[in-house]
Amino acid sequence: MAADTDREIPVHTLSRHPDLWFEDGNIVLQAEDTVFKVFKSVLSKHALLFADIFSLPQPSKEQEQYDGCVLVKVHDEPKHMATFLQAIFDPTFLLGDSCSGHEYAELLRLSTKYQAHSLRRQVFTFLQHDYPDTLSKYDHVVGDGCQCSVSRGVKGRGWALDAAVANAARDADAPLLLPAALLSLYSAGMDIIVDAGSSGLLQPLNRDVLLKAIPGMWSLGKELTFEPLFSEQMHITTKCNSTSTGACFRNRHKLRAELEVAPSLMNPVTPVSFQPGGTVAGFCSSCQKAVQERYEKVRQEAWDKIPEAFRLPEWDEMRKREEELYSTTGPGSGAIA
Ligand SMILES: [Zn+2]
Ligand SMILES: [Zn+2]
Repeated sequence: MAADTDREIPVHTLSRHPDLWFEDGNIVLQAEDTVFKVFKSVLSKHALLFADIFSLPQPSKEQEQYDGCVLVKVHDEPKHMATFLQAIFDPTFLLGDSCSGHEYAELLRLSTKYQAHSLRRQVFTFLQHDYPDTLSKYDHVVGDGCQCSVSRGVKGRGWALDAAVANAARDADAPLLLPAALLSLYSAGMDIIVDAGSSGLLQPLNRDVLLKAIPGMWSLGKELTFEPLFSEQMHITTKCNSTSTGACFRNRHKLRAELEVAPSLMNPVTPVSFQPGGTVAGFCSSCQKAVQERYEKVRQEAWDKIPEAFRLPEWDEMRKREEELYSTTGPGSGAIA
């Protein structure tokens, strides 16, 4: 891992990480100007790539030392390496509130890179609660019901976390997290997608996929989930008791006009409240029933088509891929194929 470019940082300017400096440790890792003194055997056991790195024969005179230990340089930001080492050396770190959604995204990337399979599976499970692969789990987390402690604050999560998860999912070969992360970004609107792309917070691939998804998502909503709103008929249903200038007629045109101005509002699987005061309130009971019946009938179909709209493999294929990551030598210790 050592690279000549890193040798420019003089040893006396290195700073010891306050929490990840064990006096009796036996290996020193250097990330930019920060050094961590930890335990070789523990790191090797939990992160297979380190086992490989430590086993590489090094000519002794070229091997750099720090505080009496071999110095290994890693090419990660110090704060990311600190999070990774904390997850390995502090068993309580992942359990409490100390680890943020952004740190989880980074852990997904680093646990994949360093082949820390058990950690990766744990992190993936946490992230998947908030970025689920089934419609019922999506409703649980996006609807009002979720009180789970595993949630990394999906309620308050902003598009920046969605972008971080989408980026990490690409880097860590975890496509199963992508549909929900991309869907959330998609609903945030085109302005945000474009801005996030230009500021570098969203990888170009994710930005392009989102922009190209507009027509597909639009037709999923228009032709599938919300078809009754867009039909050519004068009324949503023949049982409508509103006149051609009445509430149903006006509401329907207003809704359609809003969606046409901002196509990203058209989330074909969005949980819609059919209760009084909900989005579809204002229609007569017959029209509301017609919209609701259609919605309930086809929303699963729309969910099944979301990966295709984002140019991803089918759900089952992505599930299989996630399992294959661990299957070579069993969960928690398999090598990535
Ligand atoms: Zn929950
Ligand atoms: Zn009506």
